[in-house]
Parts: sequence; structure tokens; C-alpha cells
Amino acid sequence: MKTLCLALVLLPLFATAGDEAKKKRDFKKIAVVQGTIVCLGCELEKDGADAQCTLNAKHAQGFKDADGKLWSIVDNLRGHGVITNEKLRGKEVKLHAWKFEKAQYLEVWQYEVKSGDKWETFSCCTDCGWEKGDSGENEMCEDCTEKGK
Ligand SMILES: [Zn+2]
Ligand SMILES: [Zn+2]
Repeated sequence: MKTLCLALVLLPLFATAGDEAKKKRDFKKIAVVQGTIVCLGCELEKDGADAQCTLNAKHAQGFKDADGKLWSIVDNLRGHGVITNEKLRGKEVKLHAWKFEKAQYLEVWQYEVKSGDKWETFSCCTDCGWEKGDSGENEMCEDCTEKGK
């Protein structure tokens, strides 16, 4: 009986696995959200949490939207740079990201930082990391794409 239950639970997962994979990196679904990069732990402290920011999280950063809602950032290659780059803390940004409303998570693809009255775009290259510039939907910067040819 246990096996049967498991099979019934897993079956829908397998059935949709293909569709889910296709949904990944669907640039039509990318959202541009404007707000501020904040330390999530420090924000939670303000609401009474004992976040212990310095113990484990090391002031891991997230995103605060215009409504004051806090969003975590998916800690992948791109996200990690946003979570850990202290220079971004307190900065007004526009994140180009996939939104996972239920979990209040953002998977970041690119971001723009407000500098004066201009917005500067930053893109992430799988080889050199975050750099200024707009590489669109490309995984790598122009230089690395050239090198790879
Ligand atoms: Zn903190
Ligand atoms: Zn590169």
C-alpha cells in the first residue's frame, strides 16, 4: 500500500516534469520589480525577530518592494551575487526576475541600479560574474562568448 501511495504521489510530478523544465528561463515571464536591496535578517529584527544576522546568514540580502513586502532571492549563480554584494545594500534597484509569489522568492536574471537619475544595467556572465552592461538573454558576456568560439 505504501508503494502505491508513493507512486500516486510521484506520478503527477513525472507527468509535468517536462513542462516544468520548459517553463524555466521563459523570458516572456520575467518581471521587472522596483524596490530596495535590504538585509532580510535586519529587516526581520525590526519586526521583533531574533534574526542573528551575524551568526549564519551574514546579512544575506533580499528585496523590499514598493509595498514594503520582503522577497528572498534564489541563491543560484546570479542570485548569490545579489545576496552577498554589500555595495547593493540600501540601493534602489530594478530586478529583472522570475517571481515565485507563493514562496515570495525572486530568481534574478539582471538588475539595474539607480545612479543619479539614471539606471545602470548589470548582467551576469557564467564565467566572470556580475558586470556592468546588458547582455540580454545571453548566459555569458560578449568577451567570453567570443573566447568560446
Ligand atoms: Zn543583517
Ligand atoms: Zn564573461
